[in-house]
Amino acid sequence: LGRLYGPLTALSNVQVDVMTALVSFERVFEVLDLKPSVTDAPDAQDLRGAVAEAGATVELRHVGFTYPSAQDVSLASLESVAQLSSDPVAPTLHDVSFRVAPGEMVALVGPSGAGKTTLSHLVTRMYDPTAGAITIAGLDLRQVTGESLRAVVGTVPQDSHMFHDTIANNLRYARPGASDAEIWDALRAAHIDTLVHTLPAGIDTVVGDRGYRLSGGERQRLAIARLLLKAPDVVVLDEATAHLDSESEAAVQKALAAALAGRTSIVIAHRLSTIRDAARIVVLEDGHVVATGTHTELLATGGLYADLYRQQFATTEA
Ligand code: ATP
Repeated sequence: LGRLYGPLTALSNVQVDVMTALVSFERVFEVLDLKPSVTDAPDAQDLRGAVAEAGATVELRHVGFTYPSAQDVSLASLESVAQLSSDPVAPTLHDVSFRVAPGEMVALVGPSGAGKTTLSHLVTRMYDPTAGAITIAGLDLRQVTGESLRAVVGTVPQDSHMFHDTIANNLRYARPGASDAEIWDALRAAHIDTLVHTLPAGIDTVVGDRGYRLSGGERQRLAIARLLLKAPDVVVLDEATAHLDSESEAAVQKALAAALAGRTSIVIAHRLSTIRDAARIVVLEDGHVVATGTHTELLATGGLYADLYRQQFATTEA
């Protein structure tokens, strides 16, 4: 039995390794899922020049979108595949039009499955619209280089990913040459510097699956620090609501305010403060814009926004 023990232990370690590898593969696919599925046009232009000249106006004109068929979304995350409706070619967005002027913030609000995340993916050009067009500074996103689009548009998804690497390297994905001082500035603005100071290796602490375990709120603030380091003209973000305790929520809120200040932004809003500060709220239902207006205007009109507000926000306010 003694002689069997060694090989058996080795075998069980193999199983652990295989499980770890599988988990890593899943992670890789999650990250791959975030990669754009589109390529540069041969005559693609640099968006930065247009933004410098004309300002970072974002405009959606009669945008429609249908997800590719189930076969084409083989790289989609398991969750997305599970979300596939029984009719995979049913349009997810129909005739969506709105404009965000430079420095303005527009909030997207709507019930689950309304198409808010899909819309945010179109603005970062993870997919191209199947109808209509999205322009920034007057240029159709299909006519700009992916590299310049990624420089102009920054995004913070609801559940931000950190690579198994140091905090400094995770932030330097946004700006490779950033100095340690610049990294600390970004951490301070994102209200995560105090935590990083308490870590044994500071910004050289390894985070991720096998490193220092960050909470959801900490990950989101690091993602905001990464965004601040990149300093994009346009921000597309999904406010996290889940898994945040109230202290973390307050810190995330301050970090988000820093990320949005002075930038053209589209925010999938889950918080009252964001909704109140928005220049306009676009209310989506079943992929249609059913109402647009300020918080006060939409409350006065009644309808879906007033219902959502009562369900989601009235208790928070109370
Ligand atoms: P939530 O508030 O729950 O995040 P949402 O308003 O962001 O919802 P989306 O995630 O954009 O809604 O989903 C809109 C519709 O598109 C849903 O019917 C969803 O099932 C479908 N959908 C989302 N991702 C995919 C995908 N990769 N392939 C096919 N259909 C998808």
